[in-house]
Amino acid sequence: MTSRVFVRAESAPGEKRVAASPDSVRKLRAAGLDVSVASGAGRYAGISDEAYAGAGATIVPTGHQVELDVLFHVRPLTASDLGSLPTGVITVGVVDPFNHVPVLQKAASSGLTTFALDFLPRISRAQSMDVLSSQALLAGYKCVLLAADAFDRIFPMTMTAAGTLAPARVLVLGAGVAGLQAIATAKRLGGVVSAYDVRSSSADEVRSVGGTFISLDLEAADAAGGYARELGEARAQRQRELLTPFVEAADIIITTAAVPGRPAPQLITSAMMAGMKPGSVVVDLAAETGGNVEASAPGELISFPVTAGQVTVIGVQDIQSELAVDASKLLAMNFANFVTALTVDGTVLPDFSDELVSGSCLTHEGAIIHPRITELLTEEVAR
Ligand code: NAD
Repeated sequence: MTSRVFVRAESAPGEKRVAASPDSVRKLRAAGLDVSVASGAGRYAGISDEAYAGAGATIVPTGHQVELDVLFHVRPLTASDLGSLPTGVITVGVVDPFNHVPVLQKAASSGLTTFALDFLPRISRAQSMDVLSSQALLAGYKCVLLAADAFDRIFPMTMTAAGTLAPARVLVLGAGVAGLQAIATAKRLGGVVSAYDVRSSSADEVRSVGGTFISLDLEAADAAGGYARELGEARAQRQRELLTPFVEAADIIITTAAVPGRPAPQLITSAMMAGMKPGSVVVDLAAETGGNVEASAPGELISFPVTAGQVTVIGVQDIQSELAVDASKLLAMNFANFVTALTVDGTVLPDFSDELVSGSCLTHEGAIIHPRITELLTEEVAR
């Protein structure tokens, strides 16, 4: 039986991305799938209904019921989204499971099969499906542009007949996908870039994109899958002390540190910022998930008082939507690559012996089945 994929229009305020493009529709169709797209779903990503229809999708007018086997969503589903989905539907998208446990419980009891693309194992076969990487890459780039725009100087060292302009000193904290892209972008703009991360492999990664790695007298904190471990409070405090002189020396700071399933680690307190130079700019990419910077708030630009002036603190929110065209283009192929890998003769048939499936499937046949979520629930019950 041919599986029917439906691509919804995102309705969260500020969300401009969409989970399909004409190219991804063609790829899904070539795998034998039926594709329908909500009218206007690509409006903010520069994709018209006609473009989707031209690629072979059926356009579903607003308010019309659609028959579907697979739902594509960019933002995590809400409990009310689930209400309209029949038992047996497969949902594919960004789930942010640790912050949406009640929705997952409802998805399980509604008999939905939930795939979280943000839970895919970081294996080479999953790279073309990796929404975290594709979106973090764009976020890292955009953070630097936001900083450059708010900075009242230029980045490159410039020698003119009227005098020499010193280069901007850029500090990047957290050198995962977003941080490495921020380093590369700041470097291309002419900044002098240094960076720090707690993972042991990050020094080489930072150097490979042209940054100087800051070695702190602090043990590495690696966890499984290439991720970082959360630091205990004593080590986090020591890290902040050791970072303070680098924070004070920076003109631009971009923070991107994250630990899966945990609030973002606080790397820069307001006390640390007191010694910064006036005119400096701090961009906190983690503002929406707890903040790496004590003074930041998501979606806000704050003037933080320091001696003889102010530091601008930008708390990032919905940053990928500011690049909705490219973000959607990459997301769309992430979704299509994942779903076509699960498709046999036009039917989406997840094979649970495949680690792509077992690593990303959270609910199936009436239960939450992912060990990381079931562990979390057991811990909560025990508390
Ligand atoms: P992430 O978004 O989970 O975290 C961002 C960065 O913050 C990480 O580099 C992390 O080490 C760092 N961090 C956490 N706590 C910190 C602290 N207290 N101080 C400083 N830095 C801190 O990370 P990500 O961008 O998703 O990347 C995670 C890993 O996955 C990396 O090792 C990356 O190279 C790897 N990766 C692998 C693939 C693949 O397909 N093989 C694809 C993408 C990423």
